[in-house]
Amino acid sequence: MQIGTFTVQYDRMTPGWTAVNDTDSGDPQRFQTGAVGKQAAIRYALTQAYPAVAQAVIHLAQHCPEASGRAWAAAELLVSQHVQAPGPAAADNCLAWVRSQRAAASTHYYQLYLDGGHLTCDCLDFQQAGVAFAGQLLCKHLLAYQLARHLDWPLGDAALSLPPRRTAGGHWRGRTVTAVGMGQRAQPVTPDAPPAYANGAGVSADHLPAYHAFVATMRQRPFNAEKLMSWYVGR
Ligand SMILES: [Zn+2]
Repeated sequence: MQIGTFTVQYDRMTPGWTAVNDTDSGDPQRFQTGAVGKQAAIRYALTQAYPAVAQAVIHLAQHCPEASGRAWAAAELLVSQHVQAPGPAAADNCLAWVRSQRAAASTHYYQLYLDGGHLTCDCLDFQQAGVAFAGQLLCKHLLAYQLARHLDWPLGDAALSLPPRRTAGGHWRGRTVTAVGMGQRAQPVTPDAPPAYANGAGVSADHLPAYHAFVATMRQRPFNAEKLMSWYVGR
């Protein structure tokens, strides 16, 4: 698992979880085996790689201890660019899509809405009441969105669009697509197609490794070099 410049992995030789900074030659930080060690290694990497994110999580956990586990999971979602602007098929009151954490290439998105002054999420945890804080029910997806807002963290682009959904009244709800490049983003791209950004610009040689990684994972062209590199660095 990659968190910023840190690799978190299990060491079978000296059993236990480790966190290694890929940008220096220092020894790995070692943690115990099992879920507790894995969690400690992830939190260590988050704290080292994204101190402002970790600080916000710790601050939140001090005020709402029962949200601590979800808040750390939310930080992982945030730094791996899983919190994304809603895609073109989203309803007008949709605030964000959050890509499922379960698999690296997961294409399941949870949808966050503003509904009657409250935030809602369509995940099971939220539906089963999540955790309550300051009059608002929260799940890790909503916490990730709130962290993004709090830290001015740019939302990623939803790589895949979901079909529009019917409201109870039977009307299609969806937003008018006006953003430049939205049409291109919806087209899948094969890994062997010639490299080009969705905005039509060419891909420079030093961006090719990142570009190929993006296309292999997302099956989409990145919109431009800036979007590509923010995804690549943030993985
Ligand atoms: Zn949720």
